[in-house]
Amino acid sequence: MSNKTDYEVLIVGAGFGGIATAIELREAGIHDFALLEKHDGIGGTWYANRYPGIAVDIPAVFYSLSRMPFTNSSRFFPPGHEIQQYIERVVDAYGLRPRIRLNTRVEGARWDESTHLWRVTLGDGAELTARFVVGALGILEVPKLPDIPGVESFAGKTVHTATWDHDFDYSGKRIAVIGTGATALQLIPELAKVARHLTVFQRTPIWLAPKPDFDFNPLVDAAMSIPPVRKAIRGAIATGIDVGLIGALLSMRRLPRVAPYLTKAGAAMYKLWLRDDELSEKLTPTYAPGCKRPSMSNEYFWTFKQKDRVSLITEKIVDITERGVRTADGVEHEIDVLVCATGFRVCERGFAPVFTVHGENGVELGDYWHEHGYHAYQGVSAHGWPNLFLVGCGPNTIVPSSILVTIENNAAHARRAIVEARKRGATKLDVTKRAYDDFAEFCLNRTEGSMWLTAPCAGSNTYYVNYQGELAIRPTTAMNQWWGNRHFPFRDYEFTGRIGAVDRMTVG
Ligand code: NAP
Repeated sequence: MSNKTDYEVLIVGAGFGGIATAIELREAGIHDFALLEKHDGIGGTWYANRYPGIAVDIPAVFYSLSRMPFTNSSRFFPPGHEIQQYIERVVDAYGLRPRIRLNTRVEGARWDESTHLWRVTLGDGAELTARFVVGALGILEVPKLPDIPGVESFAGKTVHTATWDHDFDYSGKRIAVIGTGATALQLIPELAKVARHLTVFQRTPIWLAPKPDFDFNPLVDAAMSIPPVRKAIRGAIATGIDVGLIGALLSMRRLPRVAPYLTKAGAAMYKLWLRDDELSEKLTPTYAPGCKRPSMSNEYFWTFKQKDRVSLITEKIVDITERGVRTADGVEHEIDVLVCATGFRVCERGFAPVFTVHGENGVELGDYWHEHGYHAYQGVSAHGWPNLFLVGCGPNTIVPSSILVTIENNAAHARRAIVEARKRGATKLDVTKRAYDDFAEFCLNRTEGSMWLTAPCAGSNTYYVNYQGELAIRPTTAMNQWWGNRHFPFRDYEFTGRIGAVDRMTVG
C-alpha cells in the first residue's frame, strides 16, 4: 500500500488550539500541514459563540498567545468580537490562511497500521491521509439543549447561546433564560435591556466576583505591546494563579474541611453585595466556591434588582409547553423566546472526541475511554492511538488558568514529539502503556478525596468532574504542565519505522 500522504500533519480545528499548533509546526520548519475547520470561518469557540454580552473573563494580556500581543483591545477584559479580530490577525501574521480548509467537517479517523498513516474521513465522504493528526477540537464544542420534557414543543423562538440568531428581533419580547452559568451571567444583563420581561430559571446558583474591568486607552495598549512589559505582566498573572494553585494542591485533602468556611464567607459577601435577603437566599450557592469555574460580573446581580422587569425562578422546571415553561408549583410562565444557556457536552460519551477515532486494532477512542476512564498522557496522547495528539481538548489537560496556556503547552508537546519522530526516521510513535497508565494514576491519586469529589461540591453539577465521577481537569499547576509537555522523556514514546523499531536510532 502507498506510503504517500496528502499531508504530513492534519490539524482538526481552526480555533486557538489549531492555530497555536500550526504556529509551532511552522516554527519547527514543518510546512506540510492543513487545518480542517467545520465552520465557515476561523476562531472556534469565538466564531461560534456570539451572544450579546460575550467577553472573556481573563485579561487580554493573558488571554493571548505568548508569541503575539493582543493589541487594539478596548477593555482589560476584551469582548468576544475583539478576540475574534485578534485571532484573524494571528492567522494573517503567520500566513496560515492558505492552509485552512473551511466548511470541512471531519467525520472519523482510522489508523492504518500497514502504512502508518491516519485515514481521515470528511463530511462529503472524501478521505485525506496524514502521518500525524492533531485534534484541536475545543471542549465547549457541542451545545447541549436542556433535557426537559417538551423542549421541542415550544411554539415560540428557541435559541441556544452557542448558535445565536442575530437576525431575530428580541426587543419587546417576553424572554426566558434557562441556565445561570458563565455564559448566562454575561447574557442576562444584555437581554434585560431589551426584553419586555425577562424570566431566568436557575437550577444551581453560581459563585461570582466583581469584574475589575476598565476601558483601555491607547497608552495602556501601547505599553502592553512592549515585549518586556507584556511578559512581566503575563508572568505576574501566571505566577499569581500558580501560587494559588500550589496552595490548593498542597492542601487537596484538607480542602473539604476548609470548604464550609469558604462557603460561609462567600455567602456573607453575597449578602453585603446584594443587600436583599430574598435575592441573596436564591442566588447563594450551597456548594463551595471553586467547585465550578468561578466567574465575574458587575451587572448580573444588579439585573435581578429590577424586579418589575426581571424574575428569578428557582422552582424546578417540570416541562416546556407550547406557550412557555411550567414549574413544579404548577405555574406556566408564558414567553415568546426561550434562550437555552445550558452549556455544552463536556467529556461525555459520544462527544469526547466529537468524531470516531479508530486506533490500533480498530479500537474506538471514545469507547475505550468509556470503558477504561478518560485519560491522556500529559493530557495529549493515548496508548494505542499512535501519531495522534490532542491539543486543549484531551482528558486531564485543562489547568485552572487561561486555556491558552494549556493549548500552547499541548501544541509544544505535539511539535516536540513530531520533530523527534522525524529526526529518528520513525513513521509511528505511540505513548507507552506504562507512561499512559502512570499519568492516569498520578491524576487519580492526586485528586482522590479532594473537594471536587467529596461533599463540599455535591450538587454543584461541575463539569470539572466527568460523568464517571473522575476529575476531568489536570490537577497540577500550569508550570508543571509547561514542564511536562516540553520535557517529557522520549522513552515514554515508542518510535517505530515501517521496517521496525527505530527508537534507538537517535538518542534524544
Ligand atoms: P455551564 O457552565 O455548563 O452552565 C449551564 C447552565 O445551564 C447551568 O446553570 C446549568 O445548571 C443549566 N442547565 C443545564 N441543563 C439544565 C436543565 N435541564 N434545567 C435547568 N438548568 C439547566 O455552561 P455555560 O454557562 O455555557 O459555560 C460553559 C463554560 O464556558 C464555562 O464554564 C466557561 O468555561 C466557559 N465560558 C467562559 C467565559 C469566559 O469569560 N471565559 C464566558 C462564558 C463561558 P446546573 O448548574 O444545575 O447544571
